[in-house]
Amino acid sequence: PPQEAASAAAAAPLPVLPRGGVSARLDISPLLKDPVAFRALIDLLEDHLRASFPHIDFIAGLDSRGFLIGPPLAQRLGIGFVPIRKKGKLPGPTESASYTLEYGKAELEIQSDAVEPGQKVVIVDDLLATGGTMRAACELVKRLKAEILECLVIIELKLLKGVEKLESVPFYSLLQYD
Ligand code: 5GP
Repeated sequence: PPQEAASAAAAAPLPVLPRGGVSARLDISPLLKDPVAFRALIDLLEDHLRASFPHIDFIAGLDSRGFLIGPPLAQRLGIGFVPIRKKGKLPGPTESASYTLEYGKAELEIQSDAVEPGQKVVIVDDLLATGGTMRAACELVKRLKAEILECLVIIELKLLKGVEKLESVPFYSLLQYD
């Protein structure tokens, strides 16, 4: 009955991630909408990568908000962009890796010829929560025998300890939330 469900929900511990669906999530749309803030974001990420790595071959971006940050960043650095997409979106031969979501499972894919063995790749996304999505992306890039220089996000939700899932892969976040 609805009343029982409501009191059970009230008694349950607070979830770490907002459970209100898309509307309750951290949203980078206002940042993208403001040209000065968006430019400042790309400036900061560019400065960080230039200071950290003498050479990067590709920025790989995660479906879908990594597609908003990755291409302008790659353009600034004068390098190419590689999409890592949700299952069934990329044409041609692909590699795929499954990962666990808050509710259920999903799969990410990369085109098999996206990067060459030994090429140096930085993987970008908007946010690291449990780290499952980024971990699957790392698995794909490693399967193509490319070198992951770093996983880079704008926002890290530290309480979820997603970084631990990335094991030894270097990680960088611009903003951290507890
Ligand atoms: P994870 O796999 O680390 O748990 O979740 C990260 C992925 O889910 C990222 O691709 C990110 O875009 C999305 N995501 C999860 N929670 C949020 C959130 O609160 N806000 C935003 N913008 N994205 C989220």
